Amino acid sequence: LVRRKSLAYIEPFSPKDLSTPSHAKESPAMASTWTPDSWRLKPARQMPDYPDAAHLAAVEAELARFPPLVFAGEARSLQSALARVGEGKAFLLQGGDCAESFAEFSANTIRDTFRVMLQMAVVLTFGAALPVVKVGRMAGQFAKPRSAPFETVEGKELPSYRGDMVNAMDADLDARIPNPDRLLRVYHQSAATLNLLRAFAQGGFAHLAQVHEWTLGFVQGSPQAERYGAFADRIAESLDFMHACGFTAESVPQMRETDFYTSHEALLLNYEQALTRTDSLTGRWYGCSSHFLWVGDRTRELDGAHIEYLRGIANPVGVKAGPSMKTDDLLRLCDVLNPHNEPGRLTIIVRMGAGKVTEGLPPLIRAITREGRNVVWSCDPMHANTVKASSGYKTRDFLKILQEVTEFFAVHRAEGTHPGGVHFEMTGADVTECIGGAQEITEAALGDRYHTHCDPRLNASQSLELAFLIAEALKA
Ligand code: PEP
Ligand code: MN
Repeated sequence: LVRRKSLAYIEPFSPKDLSTPSHAKESPAMASTWTPDSWRLKPARQMPDYPDAAHLAAVEAELARFPPLVFAGEARSLQSALARVGEGKAFLLQGGDCAESFAEFSANTIRDTFRVMLQMAVVLTFGAALPVVKVGRMAGQFAKPRSAPFETVEGKELPSYRGDMVNAMDADLDARIPNPDRLLRVYHQSAATLNLLRAFAQGGFAHLAQVHEWTLGFVQGSPQAERYGAFADRIAESLDFMHACGFTAESVPQMRETDFYTSHEALLLNYEQALTRTDSLTGRWYGCSSHFLWVGDRTRELDGAHIEYLRGIANPVGVKAGPSMKTDDLLRLCDVLNPHNEPGRLTIIVRMGAGKVTEGLPPLIRAITREGRNVVWSCDPMHANTVKASSGYKTRDFLKILQEVTEFFAVHRAEGTHPGGVHFEMTGADVTECIGGAQEITEAALGDRYHTHCDPRLNASQSLELAFLIAEALKA
């Protein structure tokens, strides 16, 4: 019944669209047919309980009629780029807010995060002589898994805030009731965000001749700005040389524009299903809310709804791997999510915590290597290094973040594998959410500009500092 009801509101598809996509037919671990709504038959964790099913269904139907946010061809380009990362010929930089929000939606917020990612990419490309695949946690990163269903806010016990896609952060019971209209607002904000990102990437902002201009005001005068300025000088000099040799921005598009992709956690599957479309070129299903979708550490169980959804879409996908990830589970996730072992299809985002990578990661790498599985290894040094400061703020220590990245690189060096990329919670804004770094943000200073809607993010200066340290590690 659940199934019939849910199929009824995927209106835009013709019956032939609902047949099993060819690539899912021989999936070894899951023989059952995949459809955009087959996740509804599986246990789903971390999903909101909407009080009004008819309201939700109406919103889903409306979303299903809206245009897709990304085009399947772009997702395929990203997969090709990630395949090069898997071969060790490129590096993945994935970053953005823990949770995007309606309140912080502005051109400046988007521009500043984009700009810092450009700076980091330049540092990594020039410093490590590797092309950088840039993927924002942007234009859809609005739903959050939470460790507890309730939280105490301003002395009140309330249902947990689950991201602006689900409910509001206000310390008020009504605000915490999941409201489906939020899905529509997420769609529109994501469309506007993507529009600006595409304009920035292709419209001149990312022109390498602007390399000096990308430094944010508040980073100026800091050690990072000096270091970055020296880098930018060398890049400008190289550009002059290339120009003299006859390579110009007109003849070399990479000099004047860049590729920038989007990603988010595929958590709220009602939203993802409504934006799942068949690609007219290949006949395959794509999640068209974003180029790349990942499943979180709390929702990655093999027989759960989230893995079920991800296995049927043809986008490149990711799985978070925390300290509890077993080798067998990882191999089975590869069977299910990448049955044809396509390069670039699957990224393992390792988030074990500083001090745990040296022991926890080698068994995973060895199993994957032994079985000849194609994966991209990425390091999320944020999510297992969250602590509560004495002031009550959730924070992360820059040194722990750096330590986890360093351990990740060292393990890959020892195993002879490629440390494919990094995954950061970061912003271009001058926030004080993570302690440490060259600005020496202290616990006492956290309250100055603590703006995150969920987890603490690296600010622009801390992000750039990490990029310099990673460039050195990649080159070494
Ligand atoms: C996240 O990336 O915001 C997140 C919740 O991560 P994880 O699933 O690794 O905890
Ligand atoms: Mn987070």
